[in-house]
Amino acid sequence: MLLQHSTWQEIDAFLKRSKAIVIPIGSTEQHGPTGLLGTDYLCPELIAHEAQKSADLLVAPPFLVGMAQHHLGFAGTISLRPSTMVASIFDWVHSLARHGFERIYFLNGHGGNVATINAAFSEIYASASFAARSSGFALMQRNWWELAGVRELAEAQFPVGHGTHATASEVAVTQAAYPIKHASYEPKIAPTGPIYDAIDFRRRYPDGRMGSDPAQATPEKGRALIELAAASLVKDFAAFAG
Ligand SMILES: [Zn+2]
Repeated sequence: MLLQHSTWQEIDAFLKRSKAIVIPIGSTEQHGPTGLLGTDYLCPELIAHEAQKSADLLVAPPFLVGMAQHHLGFAGTISLRPSTMVASIFDWVHSLARHGFERIYFLNGHGGNVATINAAFSEIYASASFAARSSGFALMQRNWWELAGVRELAEAQFPVGHGTHATASEVAVTQAAYPIKHASYEPKIAPTGPIYDAIDFRRRYPDGRMGSDPAQATPEKGRALIELAAASLVKDFAAFAG
């Protein structure tokens, strides 16, 4: 069940049988010559949408802009600052909590978001703690590639050149749902290294990839990743929601 395709009465009725919700969260940032700018929110969105086809699971609209300052040297990237993202997550959570949601699960698609999502959780819990009241809800985040079995499948599909940004697995996941982009990669496997600011990032990683060879991606591999991740999400979410 998708929140954005529901009426308020349907959400009201849902809350009588469950108080849990999944929020896909990611980023809008460059993903190399063939990766979509939306890759990091599209992956958790595709997985969550697949999961709700076979389980009574409510999925929120995606939180689609995150921590992408280091990608601002590439056209189309949109970034929040950490303070803005913390404030936005604070407002999303308190909006949902006001209606009675007690278990809010963020399915994350961007490694750069992890620290800031955790900071948002601390900010939210602190506001309850300082006011000497219970928050009334629990929060968690899970990276989609950490769902049970997903890392093993991606390693089997891409033993060399999986990479850490514009990875072969995330490009494959988006190819399962959206048109494939073509480009020739030079070098075949992108360089690896640290992440600092946007100008430095573009200098180190000229086409935007880090350590990856996304030419190995196929829609079939992406479909297998989505199906496995969706099945694992249903179990992981049930354990949290219950
Ligand atoms: Zn990504």
